[in-house]
Amino acid sequence: MKILLVSSEVTPFAKTGGLADVAGSLPQALKRLGHDVRVILPCYDTVRKGGFALRKSRKSVEVSLGGTIRKAQLRQDSLDGVPVYFIENADFFARDGLYGTPEGDYPDNAERFGFFCRAVLALLRRLDFRPDILHLNDWQSALIPVLLRTELAGDPFYASMGTLLTIHNLGYQGLFPPPTLGQLGLDPALYTVDALEYWGQISFLKGGVVFADRISTVSPTYRDEILTPEMGIGFDGILRDRQDALDGILNGLDPKLWDPQLDTALVTPYSATSLRGKNANKKALQKALGLAVEPSTPLVAMVTRLDTQKGLELVHQAWDGLMARNLQFVLLGSGEKTHTERFERLKDGYPGKVAITLGFNDALARRIYAGSDLFLMPSLYEPCGLGQLIALRYGSLPLVRRTGGLADTVHDPADAPLRANGFVFNEPSSDALLAALDRALDAYQDRRTWLRLVKRGMEQDLSWTRSAEKYLETYTKTLENRRD
Ligand code: ADP
Repeated sequence: MKILLVSSEVTPFAKTGGLADVAGSLPQALKRLGHDVRVILPCYDTVRKGGFALRKSRKSVEVSLGGTIRKAQLRQDSLDGVPVYFIENADFFARDGLYGTPEGDYPDNAERFGFFCRAVLALLRRLDFRPDILHLNDWQSALIPVLLRTELAGDPFYASMGTLLTIHNLGYQGLFPPPTLGQLGLDPALYTVDALEYWGQISFLKGGVVFADRISTVSPTYRDEILTPEMGIGFDGILRDRQDALDGILNGLDPKLWDPQLDTALVTPYSATSLRGKNANKKALQKALGLAVEPSTPLVAMVTRLDTQKGLELVHQAWDGLMARNLQFVLLGSGEKTHTERFERLKDGYPGKVAITLGFNDALARRIYAGSDLFLMPSLYEPCGLGQLIALRYGSLPLVRRTGGLADTVHDPADAPLRANGFVFNEPSSDALLAALDRALDAYQDRRTWLRLVKRGMEQDLSWTRSAEKYLETYTKTLENRRD
């Protein structure tokens, strides 16, 4: 099968969250299964200045956005043999951020990603690659099915292509004011409840859900949750209309990128069969972050986008309880100013016990996964979550709320003794969080039980292979159920 994965972020070129990891590793797994997969993303400053060996191709196209002509220049690199294309346009993408600054989103995001969608389709004609499947991801590429099924309908070049839209996070819906349609050169007739209109605005994501041949999201539990009014963030009705075409496929991890035995950011490599190195990493982390160097004190960590979704309010509510317990707390986070300011205020109050680092730092994140005992993810909702998977691989037991992909991947000894690999609580309350924490701290005192859980987590097959096979089944269904 020929597959083009269209994503607004791809590891290692540009990343703000889990989508980048998926887009950087699913293609390799599909390639290993014998398919011709390619990836395309915008050429941001992180790409241009990131030391990658990009080749400038002679291919470029002119894209009309509501009457203004904008040039899209193609650049190319590859990732373990998977061709990666970049769309360059300095006006739209030569900026520090992918979507905005800490103050908020860029005001022209509709034009930036409207341009991206149009440019992808136009450039396809110039490539010697005609995909069977256009695999789109989140709102940033969700206009592609809209364009294909409206203004490009009947164009024989695109006629055989099937579209799959994967929703990585329903919280980001690509909402813009109605005049955006005209600015992007889209048909004003799309401003209806059956197409892009969404509570007086237009939604790129809704366009994708309505017009894509098939839709998926990143875990079976999240798939079911988003069909309910409680978790559907206004989209549940739209998704229920398409639930026969909606799949839930768990994300995997790239075993080469996330392996404590190969990770050069760590002070000592370790593995499930040789865990001694994990302790050395814990001591090094404690030292580096100014914590008391106490290998037997349980170290609880968070590595997270600072976003309400991640259950940060629960952490604040539970803060006094957390601090009253014999543990150390480490947080690495970046994101919204309201959240960074709150954690900034907690930073210096507990010397030796708390280390809060604000910012995005991949190497430190890896040292935290390796040096921690418990990895806290009290998310209000979590489509899949990669943090808990990485934590499992690095022998840090996840302590999570039972939601979305966390419910599918973390099993509590109280529910599933033979599969247990972490600790799970249900209610979004600080009491429930602290009760689960206490069970985890009790288990920590019993070294043999603890190590059994750690090893089980580290030995789990979290790779992409199984999920890539599921994506292939979904691609096949996408082509079978093509809509005209
Ligand atoms: P989301 O995509 O919602 O942010 P995931 O758990 O799916 O959450 O993926 C988060 C990814 O981003 C993980 O690889 C995690 O290690 C990484 N990450 C999150 N915040 C930071 C940070 N401040 N510094 C470094 N890596 C981070």
